[in-house]
Amino acid sequence: MDALKLIRCCVCARTPEDVRLAICPTCAKRVCAEHAFRRSGKFFCTKQCAEWFFYGDPEDLEPEE
Ligand SMILES: [Zn+2]
Ligand SMILES: [Zn+2]
Repeated sequence: MDALKLIRCCVCARTPEDVRLAICPTCAKRVCAEHAFRRSGKFFCTKQCAEWFFYGDPEDLEPEE
């Protein structure tokens, strides 16, 4: 099921059974604590998401979605 992919770390694809997952507040991807980028007590999937969250519009947005 595709739904299973949504609850895996977007980096290493581990599931909540293996690791604790956080949800990126910018893009809503799941990321495990090991791969999360921490900023101000929040967990983001990438540094880029953290910067978007705090600073707004991205200047170097890579269209990879
Ligand atoms: Zn991971
Ligand atoms: Zn993100």
